[in-house]
Amino acid sequence: MDLRCPKCNSTDLKKVSLAYQDGLFRSNARTRLSAALLGGGGPDLVVGRATTQASHQSALSKQLTPPAKWSYVKVSSRSILTFLCLGWLIFYVNNVTRNSSTVVTRPLAIFSSISGAIFVLLLLLVWWHNHSTHARRYAEWDSSYICQRCGAIGPQ
Ligand SMILES: [Zn+2]
Repeated sequence: MDLRCPKCNSTDLKKVSLAYQDGLFRSNARTRLSAALLGGGGPDLVVGRATTQASHQSALSKQLTPPAKWSYVKVSSRSILTFLCLGWLIFYVNNVTRNSSTVVTRPLAIFSSISGAIFVLLLLLVWWHNHSTHARRYAEWDSSYICQRCGAIGPQ
């Protein structure tokens, strides 16, 4: 192994992925210890454990967090929520302004088909992001090294 830091020329380099896991592991162990010291149990402890786990993750580990995949569930649920809100709004506005339910179906049908198309496009976008952008960023992240002497992060 002849890896050198571009900044300080040190050979003390560590894979970013390993450094990240290390940071996570350390913060988990510390949190478990403080939970044990507090003693007892119950929901308070569970909540406390969850929050300390989040805040105790070392700043370095946070900086080394791998790029995240986009979630289909998140995108879907937000889209459906938006669709329902806008659909209700169209329905409501039509009902109030024209005061007849027969006219409503047409704009609602148009709205539904447009949202359906946008929804499919969104899912395609998520798929594309996860398969190209995310895969590339993840590979970059996985092949990056961090210098244990000066903290410089970079692909080697
Ligand atoms: Zn260095």
